[in-house]
Amino acid sequence: MSHRAQTILYTLLMRDRYDVDVQWGLLFYLKTGNFIRVQSRHSEIRMILIQRNGIAFHNETKLTLPPMVKNQQTCRRCFSFSSCTVLHKLLEDGTPESSGIGDIFENATNHLNVTHAEFLRKWNRLLSLEQGDVVKFQNQIWTMLSSERQGSGNCLSNMILLEEQQQIEISEKPTAPAARSTSNYHSHLQKNKITFRIDKDEMSAGIARSRNNIIQLFRKDADGGDAKRRHLVVDLERPVFHPLVNFQLQDQHLNDDQRRAVEAVLTAKDYALIIGMPGTGKTTTIAHIIHMLVAQGKSVLLSSYTQFPSLLKRRFDYCIVDEASQITLPVCLGPIRYADVFVLVGDHNQLPPLVKNPKARRDGFDLSLFKMLSDRYPDAVASLTRQYRMNEDVMLLSNTLVYGNKLQCGTKEVADKVLKIPAMDHFRQH
Ligand code: SF4
Repeated sequence: MSHRAQTILYTLLMRDRYDVDVQWGLLFYLKTGNFIRVQSRHSEIRMILIQRNGIAFHNETKLTLPPMVKNQQTCRRCFSFSSCTVLHKLLEDGTPESSGIGDIFENATNHLNVTHAEFLRKWNRLLSLEQGDVVKFQNQIWTMLSSERQGSGNCLSNMILLEEQQQIEISEKPTAPAARSTSNYHSHLQKNKITFRIDKDEMSAGIARSRNNIIQLFRKDADGGDAKRRHLVVDLERPVFHPLVNFQLQDQHLNDDQRRAVEAVLTAKDYALIIGMPGTGKTTTIAHIIHMLVAQGKSVLLSSYTQFPSLLKRRFDYCIVDEASQITLPVCLGPIRYADVFVLVGDHNQLPPLVKNPKARRDGFDLSLFKMLSDRYPDAVASLTRQYRMNEDVMLLSNTLVYGNKLQCGTKEVADKVLKIPAMDHFRQH
């Protein structure tokens, strides 16, 4: 039934998108090789839209979920079964009786406890607060003139090609309002024929995906859940490190801090945290870590807050998240679930995660997973403190204001370095 409903919805979308009458859809089952022809009947469309409006009404007005249908047969075959039962149990204090599906509800949720309910409620509420502002922000892409958005730094407007036949990349997705530098579609365009706008959409990671990342923690493993991350992130179990054996650095130029960071990753059974203060060689250290892991035959997923895998099917031995202190916790959960061990690299003394809604920010939505875990287990953190960017006098400012004198100059040369400006007297006169 759900497949039929989905097909009918696609016929509606096709009508809307291409402005043609679409009466039929084809369902193809890969496993059996069967084609099924689905007619888009008016009565069925009406029923589907009534259901859809009911759900939208609950979401918009009550911030609650519609009641359970209380039918074992229907629920057993429902593709939302695991999420639905998790949400009923944790958000609504659901029981086998209130769910109306007895034992199958109990089996799907008997691993969940009060701590899990508090966690899900907190992050679900914060996501809902943020959602209001995100939707408003995303609507602006469609409703504001590019010149207005450009004024607030969110758009580049009136862009034209300066060279004939210059190759550019544009998105062919109907949801994309304008040109984007994504890798979907290559095109040769003629000079001055088309005017482009490029909009910034920091929220493209999406609230829905963030919410799904949270729910994922609470499903049973057999239902696509992630018990290991649940124990580490929600139950806050202490991370375990193996003893170090046969450790041979491949780059002998790493300093002691960088060496300890590499060791932390190589010995981590669960996760490692690396604080990379400014100019301390964070990228060099990450590159070395990847090099060593790959040399050991391990697979590594490297992710940063601008690139998240959404449709990965495979698993990795390690996931390294760069700039992890700038990512909200629900977003960070996305990539780390694809690997056995995760490594978060960041510096929570620099920029926190971007949060639009002031109340969500006040209530802690700007707490990154990186900061949460490093506050809880400071002994699991490897700090890169020897920097090579500022001389001693310049470093003094950030050291005094932010870093509690933990920053050091990497070498005496760095500490003493000064910029010699010729004809200084000339500058002084002006
Ligand atoms: S599992 Fe939940 S969503 Fe699915 S049919 Fe049952 S009540 Fe509805």
